[in-house]
This record gives sequence, C-alpha cells and structure tokens, in this order.
Amino acid sequence: METLRFQVVGEAFKKKPLVPSTPDERPSAYYGKKVFNREKMYRYLPKNVYEKMIDVMDNGAQLDRSIADAVAAGMKQWAVENGVTHYTHWFQPLTEGTAEKHDSFIEHDGKGGMVEEFTGKLLVQQEPDASSFPSGGIRSTFEARGYSAWDPTSPVFIIDDTLCIPTVFISYSGEALDYKAPLLRALHAVNIAATDVCHYFDPSVKKVVSNLGWEQEYFLVDEGLYAARPDLLLTGRTLMGHDSAKNQQMDDHYFGSIPERVAAFMRDLEIQALELGIPCKTRHNEVAPNQFELAPIFEETNLAVDHNMLLMSLMKRVARKHSFRVLLHEKPFDGINGSGKHNNWSLSTDNGILLHAPGKTPEQNLRFAVFIVETLMGVYRHNGLLKASIMSATNAHRLGANEAPPAIISSFLGRQLTELLDHIELADKDDLLSVAGKQGMKLDIPEIPELLIDNTDRNRTSPFAFTGNRFEFRAVGSEANCASAMTALNSAVAEALVSFKQRVDAKIAEYSKDSKYSEGSGHSPKYHAIIDVLRDDIKACKPVKWETYTKKIQIEARVLGDLSMNHIIPVATRYQSQLLSNVQNMAAIFPADKAAQLSARNMKLIEEIAERTSKIECLVEELVNARKVANKIASEHDKAVAYHDTIEPKFDEIRYHIDKLELIVDDSCWTLPKYRELLFIR
Ligand code: ADP
Ligand code: MG
Repeated sequence: METLRFQVVGEAFKKKPLVPSTPDERPSAYYGKKVFNREKMYRYLPKNVYEKMIDVMDNGAQLDRSIADAVAAGMKQWAVENGVTHYTHWFQPLTEGTAEKHDSFIEHDGKGGMVEEFTGKLLVQQEPDASSFPSGGIRSTFEARGYSAWDPTSPVFIIDDTLCIPTVFISYSGEALDYKAPLLRALHAVNIAATDVCHYFDPSVKKVVSNLGWEQEYFLVDEGLYAARPDLLLTGRTLMGHDSAKNQQMDDHYFGSIPERVAAFMRDLEIQALELGIPCKTRHNEVAPNQFELAPIFEETNLAVDHNMLLMSLMKRVARKHSFRVLLHEKPFDGINGSGKHNNWSLSTDNGILLHAPGKTPEQNLRFAVFIVETLMGVYRHNGLLKASIMSATNAHRLGANEAPPAIISSFLGRQLTELLDHIELADKDDLLSVAGKQGMKLDIPEIPELLIDNTDRNRTSPFAFTGNRFEFRAVGSEANCASAMTALNSAVAEALVSFKQRVDAKIAEYSKDSKYSEGSGHSPKYHAIIDVLRDDIKACKPVKWETYTKKIQIEARVLGDLSMNHIIPVATRYQSQLLSNVQNMAAIFPADKAAQLSARNMKLIEEIAERTSKIECLVEELVNARKVANKIASEHDKAVAYHDTIEPKFDEIRYHIDKLELIVDDSCWTLPKYRELLFIR
C-alpha cells in the first residue's frame, strides 16, 4: 500500500540545517522589532506629540489632526531606517483576509530629483475605490467612494519594504465597509456601559477594555500533494477522499511530538510573528493528524483582532517557504476533526480588575456575579446574532459535528458557578456571596507539590464556556475574522449592561425617591445612538454573508463537477477497460465455464464501476440544473437558501460514489492524492 505516487516537495527540508533569522537574539530582544510601538514613538516623536499619542491610545482622546504631520514624520524616519520604501492603508473588508494598496514614499522634489515624502494627510486618510468590495448592497457603484481612516489604537508595522497602517474602511455616508469599524463601535459601547456599572462598586474606574485571546487551529499539507488536489487549491477543502485506514482513532496526535519539518515552520513563524509584536505563547499538535494550534497571550480586543489577521497571512507566507500549504478552512477533511478559533474573552478595568474573575470580598463577588449574569443575559437575548456572527459556509461543516461546539449557543458555567448563581437567585438579599477560588488538591505522591484546581471543570463541547476568569467562545471558525464574533458579543453584553443599569437606577430611584436617578445615564441618548449605529452595521453585513455563502457553494459545485467529469469518471473508466480486456483474455484462453468463474470478481467490479460512474454523471447533471434554477433567484437571501437546500446536499451523494470508486480502482492510476498521503507529514 505504501507507494509514493506523488512527489513530496518538502522532504528536502528535513535534510537542510535550520538557520534562524536572528540566531543570537532572545525573543524578548526582537519582540516588536517591526512595530512602531510606544518605545519607538518615544524615540522618534517630539515629546508633546508622543504624549498626545499616548492619550489617544490609552484614553480614547480625539486625534488632533495638527499632530498628524509630526507623527507621520517620525514614522517615516523609523521606516526608512528599516529599508521601507512604500506605505499602505491596511484594512479588513467584509471578504476574508485583509486588503492593501501600496504607494511609494517617492515624490518629485521640484528640482528634477526625488524625495521620500509621507505627510499626516497620507497617514490619516485615503480613498481606495470601494466599488470592488462587498458592501451588502448599501451603495451602488456610482457612489463608490470609500475612505480608509487611520486607527491610532493599533500600531503601524513593517512587512518587507512596506509600512502598514491599520485603518477602518467606511463609505462616503459613514457606513462600515469592513469588520473593524463595527468592532470599534462595539468596544466603545461596552466600555461606556461597563464603566458605568463598575461605578456602583468603584467610582475611580475610568475605562473598561475588552480582552481577546484567540487560539488558532490549522492544518499543514505538503505543497506537492496540495498542488495535485484541485479541490484543496480552489475551495480550501477536500470535496472527496475516502477515510485513511488510520487517522485520529489512536488519539496519538494531540500534544504529540511535533514533526521536525513542522517544528522548523513553527519556529520561523513565531520569530516573524514576535517581530510584529504578536505575543506567541503556545504551540502544539491538535487532535487530527497534521493539525496544529498557535495561541498568543491575550490582548486588548482590537489589537488582538489585527494580530490574528496578520498571523493568518504570515502563516500562509511562511508555510510556502517551508514547502507547506496552510489550510485555515474549518473542515478540510471529512471524518476527522475540523479547525476552530476559540475566542477567550473578558472585560477588565483600567485599574487592573478582571471583571469576569471571582474576587475575595462579598462586594467583589457581587460585581463578579453582575458581570457574569449580564454577559449570559446578552448571550441569551442575542443568541441569533451570535450564531450569525460565527456562521459561514465553511464553518457550517464543523458546527454540530461531534468534535465541535453545537450549532446552538448555550453556555457552560461549571458546577461551582452554577451553584453560586442558584444561591443568589434563592438567597436573602443580605446573604453574603462567596466564591471559592482555586482549591488545593493533595495527591498521594509526596514528591509532587499540591496542585491548584480550577473552580470550573473543562467542558470541551460548550460553544460558550466560563473558564475561571473569562468566557471561551468556541464556535468561531478557524478562517474567520474574530471581529465579527467580538462585535456581536461585546454589543450584546453592552446592551445587557445598559439595561441592567436602567433597572438598577429605577430601583434606586424607587427607594430613594430621588428624581436624579430616574434619568440616570442608562437612558441617555448616547447609548441609543451607539446601539442604533451598531444595528445598522449589522444589517449591512447580512447580505454580504448571504452572497459569500452562495459564491462558496457555487465554486465548490463547479470544482466537484469538473473533478467528477475529468478525473474520476475517466480514471474509473480506464480501469474498467483494463478489467474488461482481462475478462476477454480469460474467455479467449479458458473454456467458458472456467473463464466465467475466474472473471467473476472482475465482472462485479466492471458492473459496479458502470453503475457508480453513471450515477455520478446523473448527479452532476442535476447539480448543474439546480444551479441554473438557483442563479435566477434575485434575492440574495433566497438564493443562499436555495444553494443550501438544493445544491449542497448533492455534494455528499456524489462524494459517496467517488469514495467507493477510490476503494476499488487501482491505486497506481488514481490521479488525486489520498487522505493517507495528505494527512501524514513524514
Ligand atoms: P486552553 O487551555 O483553553 O488552550 P490557554 O491557557 O492556552 O487555554 O489560553 C488560551 C487563551 O486564553 C490565551 O490566549 C490566553 O492568553 C487567554 N486568556 C487567559 N486569560 C484570559 C482572560 N482573562 N481574558 C481573555 N483571554 C484570556
Ligand atoms: Mg482553549
């Protein structure tokens, strides 16, 4: 069985000695080398400009355009010293991935020569043509103006020779055309709402930030094998392929030792990610063969989102250098685990309190309970929104499958927390709140120190689990932009907190008969304004989602049809012809009875191939016809539903016959790399 039918390109890497790009330095030394971070701002900006920037970043102060020139000058000096010649506004349109258009610093100097120029105007705002990006039909092409605007809360960074400036992308009339503008609005909303609630407990709180620690899962496949699989190449997943005899049933991959070639890739990736300021912390094998995970230390959500987008594109680049291809698709292979991106999320205050962590005093625990309950409230009320925020054509393959969080957003709290909440619900108001922190557990092995046991169990399948000091939103797909889930979650929680404050203020007013509470800030127009804008943003995203869904299924249908007709059926037919001539040869040599007996197995195979190929052909035709019908539907929503109901179900039927053929056709003529070849990096 172990024939190597395809050239494994990356074999050579095992023999090559590894040369780290910065051999003499520790990660702490090159961390952030390519980022215009605080340390560089301090060095390259005038003192007053530096202070203003810090105020903008830390306190959300408005960026004063008059300092933009000075900031741009400092950035340019630093960038040019690092070999940079171009700059780009880096943004996150509603497609996957990021977009960029590079411009050079070069300008005529008016004396026949050139100078490097970069002004505040170029830093702050640009006008890329927005008509080629999805907008959910909110604008037609004749009003294609879109603006990218610098987001000073996420630092600029260098990729190769280009200075990348994180920006939001908005339309002429202010609607979001990207993931980042709604995210920033949601983060603003949760900050205001949570800060107000914190004031019941601690009036000195100035700001509440949302934290995100993502865990990125991915598959690696050898480049040579990848190139021989048009389905992987064009859709990111295998549309066919029989299970490998061995896959993950031995549970021997999870946390297993990392193959040498993969370790080399990971090291290279981590060095480059750390240089870009991504605080990579954890790496390990995942459950499925060839599946791995990378997780950084959590960061403020906006920055963490940018870092995840950056990491995904970095992974693709570094993988190519190691003759791998990285698969970020949620379900690249049938029958084994898919990939997710757990979003560990919490809120914390500017004075360092984690609002989702239990405290030491009853008051702290009351605050803890408020934030836990209101988070659950938000998730409960906006379940549909949260589901929509993580749903995609690709993630749908993983959600609900046995390894992954179910397709309903429910929450797992752990025994102790459930008891605490029950206790609050039933208890007298004056009853004290207590939450046990980590408890000691004595082992019967004297050499081993006492272990600290968390007060939550692990529950791997809950899509939204409380894990001690944070919630883990696990339904997010590996390929997704976390901004979508984070926008939904933070808005949902913001709304719950606003409503909480309104009710508390009303109660206080009732008790105190003090009219000032009845118009508490929970009623203030600023909340309504924020929430209205968010609703608009979310509405605009919806048609984009439908359209993306349809397009993905459309591409898959085409690829599956093509592969069926020009790989599978011809190969199976060729093998069938070989069998036929064998049968004829038998008949020529042996008496009829004997020949029939000897050819019985081949006859059965010939028949089976005939039946399966003709079924495949019929199904492909049905697929094409179903597409023609669906393509005529005008509404993006209805078209997506048609693709889901009438086209996608055919994939499995076609695949079923193809996978059966894979089992019987001679291995040496099967043109596609099989699962056993794709899934085991040697
Ligand atoms: P797991 O055991 O679930 O894989 P890890 O310890 O690897 O969890 O952490 C997963 C992620 O959660 C990391 O990015 C980590 O920094 C992040 N994290 C830890 N505490 C918090 C918190 N309070 N808020 C948000 N993220 C957090
Ligand atoms: Mg986890």
